[in-house]
Amino acid sequence: LYVEHPLGAGQSVPLDRDQAHYLFGVMRLQAGARVALFNGRDGEWQTVVVDAGKRSGLLQCEEQSKPLQMPPDLWLLFAPIKKARTDFIVEKAAEMGAARILPVGTDFTNSERIRRDRLQAHAVEAAEQCGGTFVPEVDDLQKLSRLLDHWPDERQLMFCDEAEVGNALELYGQQHENAPWAILIGPEGGFSETERKRLHAMAQSHVVSLGPRILRADTAAVAAMTLWQKALGD
Ligand code: SAM
Repeated sequence: LYVEHPLGAGQSVPLDRDQAHYLFGVMRLQAGARVALFNGRDGEWQTVVVDAGKRSGLLQCEEQSKPLQMPPDLWLLFAPIKKARTDFIVEKAAEMGAARILPVGTDFTNSERIRRDRLQAHAVEAAEQCGGTFVPEVDDLQKLSRLLDHWPDERQLMFCDEAEVGNALELYGQQHENAPWAILIGPEGGFSETERKRLHAMAQSHVVSLGPRILRADTAAVAAMTLWQKALGD
């Protein structure tokens, strides 16, 4: 179970109403039961239920069962699409071990608004379901052009574009094996020519084809992360 509270030896962890309802109402746990907790910072801790109320509860940390497992330093940049598909992208990115998720506004982005808190909650759920101890941060929507204005020198960018042929990934994988990386997926309308020009001109940007078919943006995000993991990540 994910909690915001710090975790550590002897630490008491209060539960909010929803957490208490889930553990004691849905899961039917009682005082003395053991529950594994993580908060995205302190690893996973085994705790024991000290107080099981209807609307609140208290757990006590006993021992750490997993250290914090940081994923490789991979960012996923994507242009938000329909709500359900955007949720899917965030969920899959968190499952596959993205370290940070950055929704970006591009020239042809479909949706100019996101619910950051809702997307962050999806990232937490995904981390919970795959037994991770780390939760990627979901950023607020920002303009791709502004992000590129301040792009870090060392961070390599895997720019996924269906207009390209050939797979540059293996080549660049050897050259930039230990560098931090980012993956960029465009919106349903793809990238504008201005964006393409700019991305081609960036030293850190490596254009990558994901095959001869045009994939939906959510499929492309999963395919790109899989490729990246195979070549560079773990
Ligand atoms: N503009 C395109 C069109 O309507 O013909 C479609 C864009 S596609 C649905 C959305 C995004 O997924 C693209 O901007 C790109 O980042 C990624 N993508 C989809 N298929 C791809 C492929 N075969 N190779 C590389 N990237 C791809």
